[in-house]
Amino acid sequence: MLDITSHANLVEVTITRAIGEEITMSNAVFVLDHAQRPLRPVHPAVARRMLNAKQAAVFRRYPFTIICHAGVSTGAPLPLRLKIDPGSKTTGLALLDGFRLLWAAELQHRGQRLKAALDARRAVRRSRRQRNTRYRQPRFANRTRPAGWLPPSLWSRVCNVMTWVERLTRYCHITALSQELVRFDMQLMQDAVVSGIAYQQGELAGYEVREYLLEKWHRTCAYCGAKNVPIQVEHIIPTARGGSDRVSNLTLACAPCNQKKGAQTAAEFGFPQVQAQAKRPLKDAAAVNATRWALYAQLCATGLPVECGTGGRTKYNRTRLGIPKSHWGDAACVGASTPEALDVAGAQPLGLRARGHGGRQRCRTDAHGFPTRHLARKKRHFGFQTGDIVRATVPRGKYAGTHVGRVTVRARGSFNLSSKDIHVKHVRLLHRADGYDYGFSPSLELGEKPSLSPIQPNVRCSGWSTSRRN
Ligand SMILES: [Zn+2]
Repeated sequence: MLDITSHANLVEVTITRAIGEEITMSNAVFVLDHAQRPLRPVHPAVARRMLNAKQAAVFRRYPFTIICHAGVSTGAPLPLRLKIDPGSKTTGLALLDGFRLLWAAELQHRGQRLKAALDARRAVRRSRRQRNTRYRQPRFANRTRPAGWLPPSLWSRVCNVMTWVERLTRYCHITALSQELVRFDMQLMQDAVVSGIAYQQGELAGYEVREYLLEKWHRTCAYCGAKNVPIQVEHIIPTARGGSDRVSNLTLACAPCNQKKGAQTAAEFGFPQVQAQAKRPLKDAAAVNATRWALYAQLCATGLPVECGTGGRTKYNRTRLGIPKSHWGDAACVGASTPEALDVAGAQPLGLRARGHGGRQRCRTDAHGFPTRHLARKKRHFGFQTGDIVRATVPRGKYAGTHVGRVTVRARGSFNLSSKDIHVKHVRLLHRADGYDYGFSPSLELGEKPSLSPIQPNVRCSGWSTSRRN
């Protein structure tokens, strides 16, 4: 095991895996020239060699970026495509150079926390109206919302993704973007024929139809409700009776029901509700849709070409390439630009978690709302602020040892680092607070205590890929 306490080993800790661990693919290290322009990203081993040879210095820890001294270069910047799979809780990010996955990350949003905070504020304001105080004019119906307004919890998701698009643009040469925009490609499905799809419109069209039907009919037989049995695509009005192959005439049935129904329509078979439901298109979760379109508009505003993919195509690509289900894996599979072969075995995506930039509330109250304690007016104390990632080396006492993590500052100089009181004199800065926490396993739910320190050297992806999709 490497000595992770040594400052000289700062880089080793960030980019090297322990001896004896299975071979994993690390994220590439971003490289800047001396004028902070992006150069060709390099393998961590190359970065380590350059740092040891004093050809470069650490520019930034998250994402790990080095800056070359004047006269040193790693080559012309590589044109990269940033692929995004937006989700309500977690968004996957992947950087591809055509056929290789260079860098991946999973970004945890804080939409739910935002909503809770705004609900709390609203409750306080509402209660004020009920109190026996001077008359206050009602103030609830005197505002308009600008076009394209999104609730703050949704807007924060768009902003989080844009923050990372902009950051990555600073550290590498991104020339194109891909985004999963919709779940299913309705255009592609409209006249898809169930039989002979492979000849007429290619495999993808059939895939979209199947996925769409599975989603719409909840993966069950529409007639008997059977689950986990082989399910067939079934015509509600049989083709023999003039029924079309449009998706609105298709449902799912188990083999016995399909047999029994024969040449009857669903209504004749005793299921008029199936016929009625078939006419209704599947509605996406409206929130996800609004967010995705807002994100699309923002991505287009960057001026880079934006490729849109469907959820059906993402899943098709992921199955075809044999990539395990994960947010970053989905991101790598977004869109038609996905390469024929893509090796992502043992990829180590960086965990990003949105934490905000602190609150403006300077007065904390007790349970009854009486002010009990006050925060200092300034946020920065002794050169640190809450959210900075620091390393503390405490020589003796109750908390003797080395601690790494996100610090909570106090005006009196005794900081809180993972529930330990540590004096500022033992603390040194690793990464300035930038609204995010790093290295956490994205499968952890929001609000849960992290099990890994943000600088944990060997974050393995095995635990991540099991994370459920939002
Ligand atoms: Zn059935």
